[in-house]
Amino acid sequence: MQEHLQKIVSPLLVWYAKNRKDYLWRQDKDPYHVWVSEIMLQQTRIEPVKAYYARFMQALPTLEDLGRVSEEQLLKLWEGLGYYSRARNLHKAAQMILSDCGGQFPQTYRELRKLPGIGDYTAGAIASICFGEKVPAVDGNILRVVARIVGSDKNVLLNDTKKEVTAWLQAVMPSASGDFNEALMELGENICLPNGSPLCESCPLQEYCTAYQKGLTEQLPVRIKTVKRRQQEKTVLLLVSDKGRIAIEKRGDKGLLAGMYQLPNEDGYYTAEALWDKLLSWQIEPLEIIPLGSSKHIFTHIDWLMEGFRVRVAAENGRFLWVTPEELHAHYALPTAFKYYDRCY
Ligand code: SF4
Repeated sequence: MQEHLQKIVSPLLVWYAKNRKDYLWRQDKDPYHVWVSEIMLQQTRIEPVKAYYARFMQALPTLEDLGRVSEEQLLKLWEGLGYYSRARNLHKAAQMILSDCGGQFPQTYRELRKLPGIGDYTAGAIASICFGEKVPAVDGNILRVVARIVGSDKNVLLNDTKKEVTAWLQAVMPSASGDFNEALMELGENICLPNGSPLCESCPLQEYCTAYQKGLTEQLPVRIKTVKRRQQEKTVLLLVSDKGRIAIEKRGDKGLLAGMYQLPNEDGYYTAEALWDKLLSWQIEPLEIIPLGSSKHIFTHIDWLMEGFRVRVAAENGRFLWVTPEELHAHYALPTAFKYYDRCY
């Protein structure tokens, strides 16, 4: 395997030198820039990240700014990117670097790995790109590229496969480790595309690629999901008061969307009649209940299957926070899961 992968190092680096994309976060090798961009790029495509990254850096240009920003403001900057624990971990890690490391960004894979939210991939990316450490950074894109090149039919969703691929890449890692990792990422993002549609005719690794040579690009990589997704039914309420304000509330500190603001919601589906009783039990007098239809939001391990209602209520009470739509959009990060109903104001 090592011999096979050794052959791709040089052509890949030559290709990358000519084709490297000039993203905003690639303008220098500042670890703060690389870190924020890598965290944003997890589970999000490059195109939307560009605008989020520019806005984030304008608001929080340094590690100190990130460490000192309020959580509310940070979540507002992150609004729409999803997976909000990523933003919270960025915050925590920045505070740790400021308090425990005197503001000096950790420079090795091992030290980076100790920070919240920094896993094997991100530690490898920062250590290799910013500090030249010879360590791989293996994500889904790279697993796909390597599986196709070596013709591996192992399930790339298994941790053991990831460990194996990491070891193969470690064995051939050149001194230009950052460029090598970025070249593999970029090939995966732009050429060796998923779902059986790689652009092999434009690929610099065609002659070394087993999947291409054997016509297996549609079969590889093998991805067998072992996690069973949970489906949760929910009733979501857009409560609108006599003053035209909307009810929101803060979620608990733990679990899914921890600490975020949300529209009031209850597990399970409610009929309009059952909803009427529920609202009265909250000391809220409904005047009119209008169904808003269904919406679905997919999280990593759970799907929310939602039914929504717009409820005009007689008066605001202290159970919720009541905000105008303008205040909601300007100051509160409402998770994407609720956006469908928020738009029904
Ligand atoms: S030849 Fe095709 S399948 Fe092989 S690495 Fe290149 S793009 Fe991917």
